[in-house]
Amino acid sequence: MAARKVLRLGDPVLRKISQVITEDETKTKEFKKLIKDMFDTMKFENGVGLAAPQIGVLKRLVVVGVENSERYPGTPDIEERILINPVITALAPPGAGFWEGCLSVPGMRGLVERPNKIKIEWYDEKWNHHSEIVEGYRAIVFQHECDHLDGVLYVDRLKDIKLFGYTDVIDTQGNELD
Ligand code: ZN
Repeated sequence: MAARKVLRLGDPVLRKISQVITEDETKTKEFKKLIKDMFDTMKFENGVGLAAPQIGVLKRLVVVGVENSERYPGTPDIEERILINPVITALAPPGAGFWEGCLSVPGMRGLVERPNKIKIEWYDEKWNHHSEIVEGYRAIVFQHECDHLDGVLYVDRLKDIKLFGYTDVIDTQGNELD
């Protein structure tokens, strides 16, 4: 178990653009350790996904995967996946509202509207290229995580600053989620 420290909002590293990963890099011991540390950190923090810059590594790498999410009760499970150099194309206008949270903004939630249908392309750890159409909650998660690779946090995309607050205080029920 090698959970790493998660950088929090205000840390300038979270605002930087991450670098594209090369196939050669994925074959190194360091890269394999990085992937393991990312999963360990995501699970330790009960996250749904984690982007490398959140642990201070400015590389275009995201991991996702959760069963029975404690932080987002009632949301679908997401299968474990390693996304290297992911590229997202929106296939719908923004409109799906979801109360997003982030391990880099602990204890807070905010309503963000995003496209609920996307195409995502990525390489896996064996350098196989993938392309998939993703809808609904999974589309939201992938967009949130990939935003981190461009230094964007969900707080930049809040629908309304009034629809942002502490998880245990803000009323997330009174607003339409989609
Ligand atoms: Zn996040």
